[in-house]
Amino acid sequence: MAFAARLLISLEAVAANWRLLAAASGRATTGAAIKADGYGLGARPMLDTLAKAGARDFFVASWAEAAALGAMPAGARLAVLHGITPAEMATAQALGPDVRPVLNTPAQVALWRQTGRPADVMIDTGINRLGLADTALLQGMTIDTLHSHLACAETPAHAMNRAQLAAFHAVPNPARRRALANSAGIALGPDWHFDLTRPGIGLYGGGPSAMRDRLLPVVAIEAPILQLRDVPAGASVGYGASFIAARPTRVAITALGYADGYPRAMATFGSARVAGVACPLIGRVSMDLTAFDVTDAPPLAEGDWLSVDFDVGAAAAQCNRAEYELLTGLGRRYARVYT
Ligand SMILES: *Cc1c(COP(=O)(O)O)cnc(C)c1O
Repeated sequence: MAFAARLLISLEAVAANWRLLAAASGRATTGAAIKADGYGLGARPMLDTLAKAGARDFFVASWAEAAALGAMPAGARLAVLHGITPAEMATAQALGPDVRPVLNTPAQVALWRQTGRPADVMIDTGINRLGLADTALLQGMTIDTLHSHLACAETPAHAMNRAQLAAFHAVPNPARRRALANSAGIALGPDWHFDLTRPGIGLYGGGPSAMRDRLLPVVAIEAPILQLRDVPAGASVGYGASFIAARPTRVAITALGYADGYPRAMATFGSARVAGVACPLIGRVSMDLTAFDVTDAPPLAEGDWLSVDFDVGAAAAQCNRAEYELLTGLGRRYARVYT
C-alpha cells in the first residue's frame, strides 16, 4: 500500500458550486467543463456528481479525454473542444451521438460534414485561439451549439468583453443554442449568458472574484508523516541548509513535494495544521518531501497525517501561479478521496 499524500475532494462542494453558477447563469442552461481530468480532481467523479446535480452539457479538450470518461450518464452530452482530426474519426464515431466535436477550422467542418451528425462550432470573436471566423461554411449541417470564448472575462471592465459580445451577436446563428461564458463570463452578467454557460474553475473552488466568497473550497491536501526528528538550535533542515533552527525544533518530514504539484514557492508561505495549531513549512520543498515545524503542535507520531494549508486562491496569489495551473498540476501520486 502506497504511503502517499492524499487529496480530500468534496463532491458536495462541487455540486453546491454548480448550483451557485447555475443560479448566476439566470435563464441560461449551465454546463460544466471537466477537461484535464476534471481540473485535476478526477473527470469521472466530477461528471457523475454534476450530472446528479442537474448538469447535462459537459466539455473535455480531446477525444482521448472523452474516451477515458466512459459512457455518458442518461441525458448527458459531451463536447470535445479541440474538434476532430482524421486520426480521431473512428474513435469519435464509436463513442456515439452523445459525444460530438466543437468544430474550429474549415478542415474540421469538411471532415465532420461527412458523418451527417450534429456538431458544436466555435467562433473566434477576438481571442485568436481556436475557432472559425463566421458560420458561412456550415450550410446544411446540424449545429447544436454555437460557441465563442472570452479573452478577458476575469477583468470585468476590459473593453474586450463588450467587443467580443458585439462580435458574437453579429455572427449569423445557424445553431439551436449559443454559448459564450466561462466561470468569469457568468459573473459579467446576463448579456453574456446566451443559452448555455460553460463554467469550469468555479466548480472546483477557484474562479471569479465577484463570486469568490460564495464558492466553496473543494480540495484539501493531507500528507503523512514519514519521520519525526528533534533538531537542535543551530542545525539546518533540507537542501541548501536554508532553514536553521533558532530553537530546539520538532520536525515532521512528510510525503509531499513539488512532484505532487505542491509549489516550491510554498517554502515562503506554506504551513500545515494540527488540531488548529499552525505548523510552518521549513526549508525547501523537495521533489517528494516537505518539512514542517511541529514543535508547538500536540504530540504526533510517525504515520499521522498533517492537514496542509492549500487554499487554491491564496496559494495562486502567493506563488504567482494561476489557480488553473495549481489544480491541474496536482500529480498522479495522490490518493483522491471523495467525501
Ligand atoms: C476551459 C474552458 C471553459 C471553462 O473555463 P473556466 O475559466 O474554467 O470557467 C469554458 N470554455 C472553454 C472554451 C474552455 O476552453
